[in-house]
Amino acid sequence: MTAHKILLLVLDGISDRPCPELGMRTPLQAALTPVLDRMASDGICGIMDTIGPGIRPGSDTSHLSLLGYDPYRYYTGRGPLEAEGSGIRMEAGMIGFRCNYATLDGEGRVTDRRAGRIHGTEPLSAAIQEGVDLSSLGVEFLFRSGTGHRAALAFRGEDLGVAVTSNDPKKDGVPPLPFSARDGTDADRKTARALQEFVRQAEEILKDHPLNATRVAQGLSPATTVLIRGAGRMGHFEPFSSRYGLKGCVISAAALIAGIGTAVGLSRVEVPEITGSADTNLAGKVRAAIDALRTADFVLVNIKGADEAGHDGKARAKMMFIERIDSALVPLIGLEDCIVAICADHSTPCSVKDHSADPVPLLICGEGVRVDRVTHFDEVSCAEGGLHRISGGSLMPILRDLINRSPKYGA
Ligand code: ZN
Ligand code: ZN
Repeated sequence: MTAHKILLLVLDGISDRPCPELGMRTPLQAALTPVLDRMASDGICGIMDTIGPGIRPGSDTSHLSLLGYDPYRYYTGRGPLEAEGSGIRMEAGMIGFRCNYATLDGEGRVTDRRAGRIHGTEPLSAAIQEGVDLSSLGVEFLFRSGTGHRAALAFRGEDLGVAVTSNDPKKDGVPPLPFSARDGTDADRKTARALQEFVRQAEEILKDHPLNATRVAQGLSPATTVLIRGAGRMGHFEPFSSRYGLKGCVISAAALIAGIGTAVGLSRVEVPEITGSADTNLAGKVRAAIDALRTADFVLVNIKGADEAGHDGKARAKMMFIERIDSALVPLIGLEDCIVAICADHSTPCSVKDHSADPVPLLICGEGVRVDRVTHFDEVSCAEGGLHRISGGSLMPILRDLINRSPKYGA
């Protein structure tokens, strides 16, 4: 019997290094994970360098690699992918940026780089989209709210460069920086000018917006400017469906991951109450994945919370979130007609508070999968498994072979 579908579940930053507060175990070793352990026992395990040994991955570059898109060829910066994930349809060649709403004081100095962690900024973004006009500069733009204080911007136009600096001063008490062309080319200068003009006009609109007046009346920081960074040009991605012959979906609260998914042609499945944090609707995500598998051949799910705990250096919180993930995965046990692969996109050790290149654990289970002797899903146990140590770029070929959809090489 052969399964026909693939579920790839990426537990963002779940792997770690030994933690003193957990008796020198990793959060994954210390957590009680009967469901993950059961799937590890039923399948084959290994460890994986999501990009390559010693390469410290970002979530974006690692997800590209896991989907089989060599990040060294396809990655053009976070801005365009984040813009895509914020609902802007990024065409190849468009320039994407990441933005923050921020607060300026009467003197034009930044007083809050996140505008009091404002959320529900859609009316502000709609007013900016409606009111800002860059046509005299030969630039069309798209501007959308993201989660919380975040937003995304995209430019379309002739001769626009990407080597531009950010206006984010990275600290309070000083005015935003002017945009400038890093390499001094005409194209970069044109983009810098368009950004400057965009911010100038946006500030005019924000100044008088009723939503800001309400915030001020409530004693909250108004969103009075936009800080912009992460310029990148959208690349051309060979569609996932033509590359693998599979119809796929992505489920992720993080705009960046959703953007990578839709950039390669996966369709986005929205799940209510997913937040990208530890309070996310885990059961809803798992249910949505199982539902999506009825019509899709491939589903990518990203669960983010463990990464956040790693960045905060909170080993115990990370362990507890892992236990919550584990209990939400019960419906995956014995899932029919589906190969389930579970891994991380990178390690986020609590001692590092950032991503590290330590290889991540990987388990693959489902009909036809060889069963090795590993019975626990953690960094050390999986290293003894039948997959040994693979690179992220090998994952899709392995999964595709397990559903007998791999083309034969040679006679
Ligand atoms: Zn990540
Ligand atoms: Zn991270």
